[in-house]
Amino acid sequence: MQEVYGLITGGAGYIGSHVVKLLGESGYKTVTYDNLSTGNKDSVLYGEFVEGDLADLETLDGVFKKYKIGYVIHFAASIIVPESVEDPMKYYQNNTQNSANLINMCIKHNVNNFIFSSTAATYGLGDGNPDGVDEKCLPLPINPYGRSKLMTEWMLEDVANITPDFNYIALRYFNVSGADLDGKIGQMSEKSTLLINVALQTALGNREQLEIFGTDYDTPDGTCIRDYIHVVDLAQAHLDALKYLEKNPQSHILNCGYGRGASVKEVVKAVKELLKIDFKAVESPRRAGDPPVLISKAEKIGEVIGWKPKHDNLTKIIESAYNWQKAKN
Ligand code: UDP
Repeated sequence: MQEVYGLITGGAGYIGSHVVKLLGESGYKTVTYDNLSTGNKDSVLYGEFVEGDLADLETLDGVFKKYKIGYVIHFAASIIVPESVEDPMKYYQNNTQNSANLINMCIKHNVNNFIFSSTAATYGLGDGNPDGVDEKCLPLPINPYGRSKLMTEWMLEDVANITPDFNYIALRYFNVSGADLDGKIGQMSEKSTLLINVALQTALGNREQLEIFGTDYDTPDGTCIRDYIHVVDLAQAHLDALKYLEKNPQSHILNCGYGRGASVKEVVKAVKELLKIDFKAVESPRRAGDPPVLISKAEKIGEVIGWKPKHDNLTKIIESAYNWQKAKN
């Protein structure tokens, strides 16, 4: 019998590479498909690797022909909110159009299990519930990044509605951070715009200062609140989702977060305390496209796929990211 592979688009990227590692350690065969625009081939620790773009239908089709693909986990995307505001069509091309290409290929090759890397940015401002936003909240994204991802969720929903065997799980990530606990992989980008990375790079002297974007939000300390989740826990959510789809022909949209938030100032303080380094953090104007508060309601994912986070601790998240950054410095 031909061996079954998982196709992991964007598997050379930050989250994708952690999932490829976990799948490899768990005995799954994978083919990573990545155009290396932001990913790094060295981060793909397991399985096969094909350099390719989701806009290149010939190469993509070739992968489906060469390997018996049993499921797809789709990470490949552009992910920077402010960039999406400046260059929306890049996001509709890379995220929406390329997802359409991939879904078409799944239909063509009869691949029926699809896990999609979605985002809390689909919620936009959320429903204002201080306990967090749940999956029933009407998604109203406030930036092109969130819209481009929501459109992909809609495509998956519509395809699942008319394709009896096709099932998907869209995982709506909150703020993913941290690094592999073995120290083998982590966030590679020197140009990362993500708060914890920027804070660590500033603490390590790679950046002169950190800007706190907006101190006049309607939050206790005036800065934005986010639900930071450890990338190792997030990787496990993908494996749990895959095991679920292997047994249950049902589609779901699931939040991936811990259900509690930290403000920008709290994150900066936590980094300074952990590292015992006092770096420069200056108050700056708001950044375009930022919702004031984004916290997950976190129950559904546990109920549906049995996900149990093990690293729900901001300091642990920062520490793992720091160990990785330090090793690279
Ligand atoms: N942020 C900041 N300074 C930075 C990077 C981010 O103040 O250098 C803020 C950002 O405005 C947002 C929060 O930190 O309120 C989290 O931003 P990040 O880019 O990490 O993730 P996002 O929530 O945009 O996905």
